[in-house]
Amino acid sequence: MNTKTYQELLNRQKEIQLLGSMQGLLEWDQRTYMPQAGAEHRAEQTALIAGVIHQKRTAPPIDKLLHELEVDREPDDSPEAVNIREWRRDYDKQTKLSRELVEELTRTSVLSQQTWQQARADKDFSLFQPWLEKTLDLKRREAEAYGYTDDIYDPLLDTYEPGVKAVEVGKVLGELREALVPLMKSIAASGRKRDSSILHRDYPPAAQSAFVHKVAASIGYDFNAGRIDETVHPFCIGLGPGDVRITTRYIPDFLNSALFGIIHEAGHGLYEQNLPREHWGTPMGEAVSLGIHESQSRLWENLVGRSRAFWEFWYPTAQDHFQSLQNVPLDDFYLAINAVQPSLIRVEADEVTYNLHILLRFELERELLTGRLAVADLPPAWNAKFFDYFGLEVPDDSLGCLQDIHWSAGLFGYFPTYSLGNLNAAQLYAAAEGELGGLPAMFRRGEFQPLLGWLQRNVHQHGRRYNSAELIQRATGKPLSADAAVRYLEGKYGGRQVV
Ligand code: ZN
Repeated sequence: MNTKTYQELLNRQKEIQLLGSMQGLLEWDQRTYMPQAGAEHRAEQTALIAGVIHQKRTAPPIDKLLHELEVDREPDDSPEAVNIREWRRDYDKQTKLSRELVEELTRTSVLSQQTWQQARADKDFSLFQPWLEKTLDLKRREAEAYGYTDDIYDPLLDTYEPGVKAVEVGKVLGELREALVPLMKSIAASGRKRDSSILHRDYPPAAQSAFVHKVAASIGYDFNAGRIDETVHPFCIGLGPGDVRITTRYIPDFLNSALFGIIHEAGHGLYEQNLPREHWGTPMGEAVSLGIHESQSRLWENLVGRSRAFWEFWYPTAQDHFQSLQNVPLDDFYLAINAVQPSLIRVEADEVTYNLHILLRFELERELLTGRLAVADLPPAWNAKFFDYFGLEVPDDSLGCLQDIHWSAGLFGYFPTYSLGNLNAAQLYAAAEGELGGLPAMFRRGEFQPLLGWLQRNVHQHGRRYNSAELIQRATGKPLSADAAVRYLEGKYGGRQVV
């Protein structure tokens, strides 16, 4: 390989990533500490930096340098080869969209989100309808520009989950539905009642903060290289080596929001903190996909953080922090944090019903994109499907098809990554348990490093060396399926087991 050419390309790419991390810092500040009146100036700052980044990413010399490197060598498994392959992928994808289309998508997204907020507040879908039609037209143009063979959904999904096809997602989510619908019905029929009011007592934010900091540190989130701040919509952001930040929201009369929110975001944070530092600024130092990122957060939040073993270790400390838990037995607390109840809102859903919310959106957005479903018919289609899956009537569109921001923001193909995250998480966890053995016993002793170490070796250290399908195959010895997730959910919530 021509090392001089590689170095020149590397320098360009690192410069782009440095600019990207500055953009990230502006975003973090905007969502945490920026005063309201700074919004307009911040919009100018971010627009400028986004423009500069786009220009540098699509600069013709990148194509030329890549081409020189590509003719020069056979693809292999080295970090350099991985980077060249992924840089090519990124470059080709970014240059397929015209500047006019990118600008129109951005403009429409901002205005559409504003109208969506109004429509949701007014419970009036007809306000949002023309914007959703416009957004869909643009997304179809985007998909055509990327190109595809059989399914217009594929190139959009590929943006978030490289290499994965809609038909594959449909297959695993279908398997999941086959198992979940009867499981949900048997839970409802069992009549087991869980007292979730325990979680809605008085939980002073200062005590919540002290407790979640301890929990996050115990699973390996490094506070020398990260911090927790407050925000409205929690997120995790990797700003560079040694700086991966998470955010949360403390609700004084609801424990779950910050507690499971932080374990979730710390799961994302662990992935970012453990990406190979020496490869920062290149694909070898980046996360694989949203579905793999979400597997890390869901694994820690649900498979670890909602397990009985985890709470056998943490519950006495929780009782020390919260007066409200003083007289609550561990079993009652464990039942409360694992209550299963069909509900209207996705973001409030439990582990069992969550994936059905995603399946419903995935099916509808595919039909919207192909035009099989007209936008005007979305509300009745949503409500009918919702009744079919959950047995609930949707009282109005703000609790139905207007509840999520995604479609107004043009994020088509994004929803499935949440469920892929759950499936990946269950399959990775099962493989880790198979290899390490006795994870619950370790959790009972407060030992989380063995599991983190397994994830570092099998997921984090690889950066973008493998796509998500390859990564899961290598880490777990089989292709992704719903099996592990179904086994996990049936084991925890099914049968006669009183959980
Ligand atoms: Zn997440």
